[in-house]
Amino acid sequence: MHFIWEDFLKIVREELGSRVVETWFKAVSMTKWDGIEKVIYLQTPNAFVCNWLEKNYRSVFQTHLGRLLNVADPKVVFLTTSHKKNDDLIIKSNEIQVSVSDIKTPQLKTYRPAHMIPYGPKNGLLASKLLERYGHINKKYVFETFVVGPSNSLAYAAACAVAQKPGDLYNPLFIYGGSGLGKTHLLHAIGNVIQDNNKKALVLYQTADRFVSEFINAIRFDKIDRFQKKYQLVDVLLIDDIQFISNKETTQEAFFHLFNSLYDARKQIVFSSDTFPQNINGIAERLRSRLSSGMIADIHQPCIEVKTAILKRKAEASGEILSDEVAHFLASHVTSNIRELEGALIRVIAFAHLTKEPINLALVQKVFFNDTEGVEKQSVDFKGVVKAVTKHFPYSLDDLRSENRNKELVLARQLTMYIMKKNTNRSLREIGAYLGDRNHTTVKHALSKIEQYILEDAKLQRQISAIEKEFER
Ligand code: ADP
Ligand code: MG
Repeated sequence: MHFIWEDFLKIVREELGSRVVETWFKAVSMTKWDGIEKVIYLQTPNAFVCNWLEKNYRSVFQTHLGRLLNVADPKVVFLTTSHKKNDDLIIKSNEIQVSVSDIKTPQLKTYRPAHMIPYGPKNGLLASKLLERYGHINKKYVFETFVVGPSNSLAYAAACAVAQKPGDLYNPLFIYGGSGLGKTHLLHAIGNVIQDNNKKALVLYQTADRFVSEFINAIRFDKIDRFQKKYQLVDVLLIDDIQFISNKETTQEAFFHLFNSLYDARKQIVFSSDTFPQNINGIAERLRSRLSSGMIADIHQPCIEVKTAILKRKAEASGEILSDEVAHFLASHVTSNIRELEGALIRVIAFAHLTKEPINLALVQKVFFNDTEGVEKQSVDFKGVVKAVTKHFPYSLDDLRSENRNKELVLARQLTMYIMKKNTNRSLREIGAYLGDRNHTTVKHALSKIEQYILEDAKLQRQISAIEKEFER
């Protein structure tokens, strides 16, 4: 049986790739082969994996194990197991508690892992204070509102598994994918489930950005002890956009030690990143190997069906119904990411409310192709902002995008960012990307600089208003 199983894994690896094998098949074993009844018994580590395999890979088992065992169409029974003290196996057949395919009501909250790590305050007062101040879990982002499709099912499944068995199955979990594809959503969703299952768990969501600045401040104000204590207490650490730790050597060092101590204590750690660990530049090799030591799941661009489903779901949440035609139009015209898709939908709904027109294809096309004359505030895009700025400054778009740090040019660049943020509903990251592939922290920095200049110099505000007036022409 052992060899048959090994051969089977080889075949599946070729067919489905090693990522899938590592994620779903490695934890499975073949416990029994009933040659008379032609039944294969497969033991799975928990109900979640069991259910997932059954839903997605039943035919893979049937076909390939059948061939290796030389029978056509064997039956496959998935088992979940629990251990008695003497390690005898009690087999509960198909104890399925989580329905993954049922996206609308995944029943996650009713599932309680049998042997969850006893989380909670070790130092009651301090921990509850920390929880109050740092429990930055956004209640809005839950699994129930996350639409699952081929582009994100692996990340979704891994996130669900981690949420149900923190510190157990996949540690650390590393989710990567392009901007606006749902990474932050999944991180918060994990936090929400764990928090709901265990009110005492100290779940901390933090962006790597903020981690870095917190650490720098801790050093500057001699509070490194406090900083360390805080993170040592955490039961579940969700670090968003870990790529921003690149080139920050001392922070990486601190993070490396923190990671090790949390990991040794079997605390769940989840990372998100815009790229695969191997592609994050400027991080120490040993940290890189820690990041990729657990489960890695990627999110791709969604297909049009998923985009349509998301649009309909989001519209419903704001009390609107989108026709198939409208949803399809938006889904096929917004190709970048889901955040953009949401942005487009919000613009459509806002325009419909403003003009008191129903949401139909004609209206959506109008909004989409910026043919919204006569409506109070015309929306501007990046090009419009650049056009206006370049009328007031002796610089071109190429200058704004360049690396040139000439003082006047830097000001113009920062102003452009500020005006873009104020007048479009694009993200810092998108603005940075448009203006010469700059980091979103650069944009954030620019915004606070300009805000500061405005306070110091009233002329600047007048200049900004003059530039914004250009949009109306
Ligand atoms: P990222 O962190 O990858 O840049 P976010 O998690 O912030 O992306 O997602 C951007 C927006 O798109 C959020 O409002 C999120 O709720 C939504 N979103 C992303 N993926 C999905 C999905 N599969 N189903 C529903 N909403 C999604
Ligand atoms: Mg994010």
